[in-house]
Parts: sequence; C-alpha cells; structure tokens
Amino acid sequence: MAQSFEEISAADFFYRNRDIAGFTNPARAIFSSLRELVENALDASDLSNIPPDIYVRLSQEDGAETEEVAVYKMRVEDNGSGIPPRHIPSAFGQVLYGSKYKLKQTRGTFGLGGKMAVLYGQITTHKPVFIASSTGTPRIHGYKLMIDIQRNRPLIMERKDYLNRERWHGTIVEFCLEGDYYRAKSKILEYLKQTALVTPYANIIFTDPKGMFYRFTRGTAEMPPPPKETLPHPYGVDVENIQRLIRVTPCRNILEFMKTHFHRVGENIARRFLEFSGIREKRNPKKMKPQEVVKLVQMMKRFNGFLPPDASCLSPLGEELLKTGILKELKPAFAAVRQRRPATYSGHPFVVETAIAYGGNIPKRNDIQVYRFANRIPLLYDEASDVSVSVIRSINWRRYKVSPETPIIILTHVCSTKVPYKTVGKEFIADRPEVKKEILNGIREVARQLQRFLTKREYAESQRKRLGIYDIYGPIISRSVGGIVGLPQDEIQNLIDITLKRQ
Ligand code: ADP
Ligand code: MG
Repeated sequence: MAQSFEEISAADFFYRNRDIAGFTNPARAIFSSLRELVENALDASDLSNIPPDIYVRLSQEDGAETEEVAVYKMRVEDNGSGIPPRHIPSAFGQVLYGSKYKLKQTRGTFGLGGKMAVLYGQITTHKPVFIASSTGTPRIHGYKLMIDIQRNRPLIMERKDYLNRERWHGTIVEFCLEGDYYRAKSKILEYLKQTALVTPYANIIFTDPKGMFYRFTRGTAEMPPPPKETLPHPYGVDVENIQRLIRVTPCRNILEFMKTHFHRVGENIARRFLEFSGIREKRNPKKMKPQEVVKLVQMMKRFNGFLPPDASCLSPLGEELLKTGILKELKPAFAAVRQRRPATYSGHPFVVETAIAYGGNIPKRNDIQVYRFANRIPLLYDEASDVSVSVIRSINWRRYKVSPETPIIILTHVCSTKVPYKTVGKEFIADRPEVKKEILNGIREVARQLQRFLTKREYAESQRKRLGIYDIYGPIISRSVGGIVGLPQDEIQNLIDITLKRQ
C-alpha cells in the first residue's frame, strides 16, 4: 500500500510536541505559561527602559480546591513597551512570529513561548485569550483571539478599542488553562524569587488562587544598559547567512560587503582577509558562484585576524546590580560577585557572571545549591544536565573551605545572543568548552573570595576563643605574677594585654 503524505503547520507541530517546549503535564504547563508571560513582560520593559511593574494573578475558575487539576485564569500585566496593534494578533496567535529574531540579548528567542501558553490554554479549555495593549498612544487595543492550529494563523474573535487618557503603555494578557497549581506552587514561587534576584530593578506582585499575596520589591531603580543590535561575526556565519546577505546587499564589491555586514570588520581587516583568501577585492558578491560562497565561509573560519566580538549586544547585570539582587532576596552574611570579560563560542559573544552567597538566611543543606540564569532568566528544571552543575561538581570544594554542610548558594549567569540551550523549553545550557571554561574561572574567583572571608573569620574566632580563656585566667595569673615580681596587678595585666594584641 502506498504511504500517504501530508504537511503540518508550525502550530500543529508544537501542538503535537508540547513536551519540547516545557508543557509536559498540568503542573509544568502552569509553571511554563506563567514564566513565558513574565519573561515577555520583562523583555517589554527592557525595551522601554522603564523599571518594570508586573502584576501576575492566578485565580481558579473551575473544579474543587481539593482536585489536582483545575481550570485557572492567568492574568499578567506589565508597564512595558506595548505592542503595535497590527502585530497583536500574530504575536499571540501565530507560532514562530516575534520581534526577537535579532542579534541582541533578549529573554525570548524562539517566537514561541507566549503562543505555547495560549495554545495550551485553548486545547484544554477552548476559550480565547484576551490581550489589551498600548504603546502610549491615545488608544488601548483589545483583542480576543484563538489560534487556528492547522493553519497557524490567529483567529480574531473580537476587537475593541478603549480610550487611553493616561497614556498608559504596557500589555495585559489574560487566558484560561487547565493546570495543577498546587503541584507547581513551589517552583512558581522559586521562579519568582530568582527572577526578582536577577531583575533587582523590578517590582513583581503575584496573587495566587487562594488570594495569597507575594510581593517582590525592587532594590534599585537602576537598569543595566540596554543591549544594542549587532551584526554577525565572521566566525559565526554559515553559507545560508551569506546567501541571505548577498540577496539584500547594496554593495557592489566584496570589500564593501565585508565592511558593511560583519561585526568589527573595517577596511584593514577586510583587505587582509581577502588577501589571505585569494579573493579579489573588486569581486561582485552578487555574481559569486555557490563554490565561491562556500570557500568564503571556509576562509572566514580559518583566518585568525578578525577581532573578537564586543559585548555591546549583551546586557549582563553587572557586579553591583547582581549583588543588590543577592542581598535583597537571599540576605546572606557574605556575597562575592564577579563579571568575566566577554568571550566567544562559534562566533557568538557571551559574558559569564558568577556569585557566591554564604551564611545569613541561607539554610544548611547537604549539597551545594545552584541558581542558574541565562539572559536574566532563572533555569529551574533539568539541573543535572546543565553545564554549571557539572562544573561545580568538578571543583574540589575543600580547597575553598567549603564542605557539604556549608550554607552556600552559587549563582551562574550566562548572557549571549545565542545561549546554547539544549531544548526550546530553555531549561539547561549545553556543554560548550568555551562557556564551561568561563564558568569555571568565574566560580573559582568568587570561591577564593569566600575562602579568604572564611579564613579571616576562623582567625577572628580563634582569637576570640584565646582571649576568652585569658579573660578567665588573666586576673588570677596577673595577681600571682604581681605578687612574685612585686608590681601592682593592673600593671601586669596591661603588659599581658599589649603582648596578646601584638600577636
Ligand atoms: P518570543 O518572546 O520568543 O519572541 P513569544 O511568543 O513569547 O515569543 O512572543 C511573541 C512576540 O510578541 C514577542 O517577540 C514580542 O514582540 C511580542 N510580545 C509578547 N508579549 C509582549 C509584551 N508583554 N509586551 C510587548 N510585546 C510582547
Ligand atoms: Mg517570549
């Protein structure tokens, strides 16, 4: 019998393979939905460069409180950039549609997360999503949408404009989904806490289905400098990238082409590269044959005269802000933070930040706790497969005076235009040797600072003990010594004090 063939849409693909986007079961689904909407909200505030105020509300629609799976209504409101009305339907109703397919650091990357939440809500409750958004114009645009999964198109059920007297800007997303809040609760709260840590300039308010109110207040209004969009680095491109550039380039010769479309390639470097590759400077890129394009890419990989990418397209938190976040959310007795210099893997720039927090409110566990972040989002699942965890396991912690009972949390933050995630669910970072090395060095640096702190404390402690002993026996000794040498007791005591302090 002949096979029958058919094509499915992108929405249909993700409908069939929800697992790979982190929508495995009702608990994961409610966690992932909340996380994707909060991340969109935070990206939108980075865009407007205004410290975010985010309100998340989860209320139970259907089902008894004792039941595991129930229908919830999720509402997320932000004060970010807003979405221009013509993009609203596709932004929420068309899988793989988004504004973040650019070479600059954002939390979203796949054009997928928000839609997965909407899609999951739709297939479990068959209700539309409501979106209201304004970019600060005199109108707020409201839409009720569903996704036509087979065609991957938004279905507009209703649209309505509202007057915007206050010139509010931001977005409200509200939809229903089946979920298991009580099983997801601890992860959701952990996620919000870690988000508040790595976004210390955000106010986040969360109301849970029982009306419990969680508030994460900003510790600073200062935001890290926004990332700039960048050009591709010659080490990071392939034949398809070059073909696309050739199609749109206005440049008539390859020298100009190199200078215009690539990151940190100026006249001199372009000349040297073309000489190295044996390509004529006047060669018209539009006339290049396929073999020539392949050769160009190969030569780009071989030439070692390109400058490393700069990090202006990245937006790490910075040591000061990271410390603010740690002090505010973890309240440790000691914290050390470190930002490493920009590095690259396969032509993609990245920056690693590491931190260690010790003591204070940090509980003792029988294992080192790790907080992992990528592009300012916490990664909470699949810890065992993550590069940071394997690095931490490889370190001999005794050298840093850390034992399994030491109450510490280690934080790693990888920022990149292309974080090497292993899945579209953005849960863990793949093991790239370059990234691994930066993480290792970063952790070593903060671990050394902790070691110094612990050594100092140990010394102070032993001094205190020594002086404690002296406090008891000192007066007895000075009295008897005074008696023997014929001096008053306090004079002897003074002499002993001075000697002890000198040691
Ligand atoms: P991604 O975030 O990966 O791009 P999403 O499906 O989560 O994919 O979102 C699609 C697009 O919708 C985003 O790229 C963004 O342009 C827009 N968007 C979603 N939520 C918001 C929001 N709260 N504020 C502004 N724009 C948003
Ligand atoms: Mg997103």
